[in-house]
Amino acid sequence: AHTLRLLLGDQLNPQHSWFQQVDAQVVYVLMEVRQETDYVLHHAQKILAIFAAMRDLARQLRTAGHRVRYVALDDASNRQSIPDNLSALAAHYGAQSVQWQQPDEWRLDTQLQAWASTSGLHCSVVDSEHFLTARDDLATQMHGRRQWLMEHFYRPMRRRYRLLLDEHDQPIGGQWNFDHDNRKPWPGTPPAPTDWRPTHDHRALWEMLQRCGVQSMGEPQADAVRWPLNRAEALECLDAFIAHALPHFGDYEDAMASQAPRLFHSLLSFSLNVKMLHPLEVLQRAEAAYHAGHAPLAAVEGFVRQILGWREYVRGIYWAHMPGYEQRNALGHHLPLPHWFWNGDTRMRCLQLSIRQSLQTAHAHHIQRLMVIGNFALLAGLDPAELHRWYLGIYIDAFEWVELPNTLGMSQRADGGTIATKPYVSSAAYLQRMGDYCQGCAYHPKLKTGPRACPFNALYWDFFARHAETLGANHRLALVYRQWQKMPPEQQTALQAHAQQVRQQLGTL
Ligand code: FAD
Repeated sequence: AHTLRLLLGDQLNPQHSWFQQVDAQVVYVLMEVRQETDYVLHHAQKILAIFAAMRDLARQLRTAGHRVRYVALDDASNRQSIPDNLSALAAHYGAQSVQWQQPDEWRLDTQLQAWASTSGLHCSVVDSEHFLTARDDLATQMHGRRQWLMEHFYRPMRRRYRLLLDEHDQPIGGQWNFDHDNRKPWPGTPPAPTDWRPTHDHRALWEMLQRCGVQSMGEPQADAVRWPLNRAEALECLDAFIAHALPHFGDYEDAMASQAPRLFHSLLSFSLNVKMLHPLEVLQRAEAAYHAGHAPLAAVEGFVRQILGWREYVRGIYWAHMPGYEQRNALGHHLPLPHWFWNGDTRMRCLQLSIRQSLQTAHAHHIQRLMVIGNFALLAGLDPAELHRWYLGIYIDAFEWVELPNTLGMSQRADGGTIATKPYVSSAAYLQRMGDYCQGCAYHPKLKTGPRACPFNALYWDFFARHAETLGANHRLALVYRQWQKMPPEQQTALQAHAQQVRQQLGTL
């Protein structure tokens, strides 16, 4: 009897132990389904890149001698949902058993489990062999702690994977964290590396998506898809990152530059999240660059912390709090997203550049996501669930397990502070200090009220004033609240009146 083995669109690891042996009884199943194109409004490049990478893996598996059933979106037999297709395919092949790799999204995990319990087939789940922790490791480790700090998770992870440790199991360089060295604006030198990614023509695939009526946002750029679509290409991108960008990754990790949208970031999140790359191989390559004297410790440690620390940590947060986490709204924010989230048509230059870039490339670096777009959304009081759907759709690397804790937790503090000890917000001064986005903006970063005042300024103070009851007792915010209280009452009133006006006219900013 046959066995079906399902591969989801973010399970594209050709090195999974499943593929070590060729077995004529095993049929690998990959499917393009409306269920997945439609659960949120995705960026066009995200749909293109995932489908194209799935097609590539199917080709590789066939070449290696495996049996593959690839269900294209426009196949007549496609029932457009994963469970319905599985039922039909199990009947078609006379399969008694169906296997899948542990899904990373709660949505798919529960859907497949529900199907398994009614399918009458023998269903089993195997490890995706990707992550460095199990789903519940974080919750187990943090049991009983009031706050689950990333730093408490990260240090044992360094020891567990023996990364950047000396012979006494202590951190190389004498400290675990070099964040303080990593907060420089970028002066224009060293030059930002040119885009090292491959280019693919996927116009035929794009035409098919359009014929099927798949909705999307952003620019498809189907004649020049710039994302690595298989492991070999992803490895080339990793090489290029280590060679050209890692040495400066730390210094300019928090910088913003209108002329260099990606700066020294790796652009590896898509390759990692669809599992074309394994996190440990990426970490070990970065560590080797340090030992070879190619990249400084602060850069390598900063990079390691993102993947060994943050990436695994947010996944642990996700599984500890799902379901229900996606509905949290601890600050009671309900304003709808203004129209310019979908076209970048705002005069605030930081938001215009960051959103336009996101629409053009399906990518924005961390500071654009956190301190420009997320910062504005939190200060203005935008609805966190709607914002979550926007982030989940627009970014090439957005899968709920990693996007949701970052957006709802870290960025919007809608979880009440599980992840972030204080809200990630700033006034215009921070934006001006960390880059050139304010240059040529219609608003002035130094003005606080009046038609030319940068909206971030009044919104900043109004945010803290509005949430004094929730945030006022947080000792990390004591300084902010002291400053607010020292302000003359008429200045407070003017700031709050201006913020009120801004919040009523978000669409016109
Ligand atoms: P680099 O800056 O080169 O970092 C290297 C790698 O570290 C990344 O590829 C990523 O795998 C990992 N990493 C860095 N920061 C984080 C983080 N906070 N959480 C998890 N992994 C991290 N990342 C996603 O992969 N998918 C998302 O949907 C996503 N949504 C986000 C939403 C918001 C509001 C914020 C503030 C951050 C989000 N991030 C998300 C984290 C981070 O911004 C991206 O991982 C990063 O910008 C991807 O670009 P890069 O590969 O060039 O990253």
